[in-house]
Amino acid sequence: MMNLNSPLFDRIRSKPNAEEVRADQEPLCQHPGCRRKGEFRAPKGRDHEGEFYLFCLEHVKEYNQSYNYFAGMTDAAVQSYQKDALTGHRPTWNISVTGAGLGAESKVDAATLLRAKLDRLRRAREAAAEARVRPVGKAALKALEALGLDDKADKPTVRRRFKELAKRLHPDLNEGDRSREEKLRAIIDAYNYLKTVGLA
Ligand SMILES: [Zn+2]
Repeated sequence: MMNLNSPLFDRIRSKPNAEEVRADQEPLCQHPGCRRKGEFRAPKGRDHEGEFYLFCLEHVKEYNQSYNYFAGMTDAAVQSYQKDALTGHRPTWNISVTGAGLGAESKVDAATLLRAKLDRLRRAREAAAEARVRPVGKAALKALEALGLDDKADKPTVRRRFKELAKRLHPDLNEGDRSREEKLRAIIDAYNYLKTVGLA
């Protein structure tokens, strides 16, 4: 039987809890609210050369994705995305951006700054993706036409149309009608192609 009075148990009991150990000895991921280990470094970016955030794997990926997105863009392009992305969002934003230069009384904590930064990057990425002009190649155009659509059709429209046609042309409803079977195959091919080029 185990002896609960053994010195071993005293040792376990006197140990600080796991949370304290982590906070004391290993940096935590700096993503707001994340309690995992901050094992990965991510550059803070322009004006903060040589400074890094510490993130867990998931959050360093997320951060790098946002960060890299702007590589190669002009300042003007980045700013306009950011401006678009900010319209109507948190009023605390301006404070966050300039927080580093404010006095102690209006100091913004690091988590707030980072949260705002991640937020901004995410929204900017979404706005950019939204605004991006899709290059529609000849093959894609042909595939869209096969579905009775043109190059302005967005993904939900393409999907909806495909489902409609597939249902209508389904062999179960068209007992052995060869032409319909072929049409269905063409539509499936077209749809699959559109998926491979990100249009469906
Ligand atoms: Zn994390």
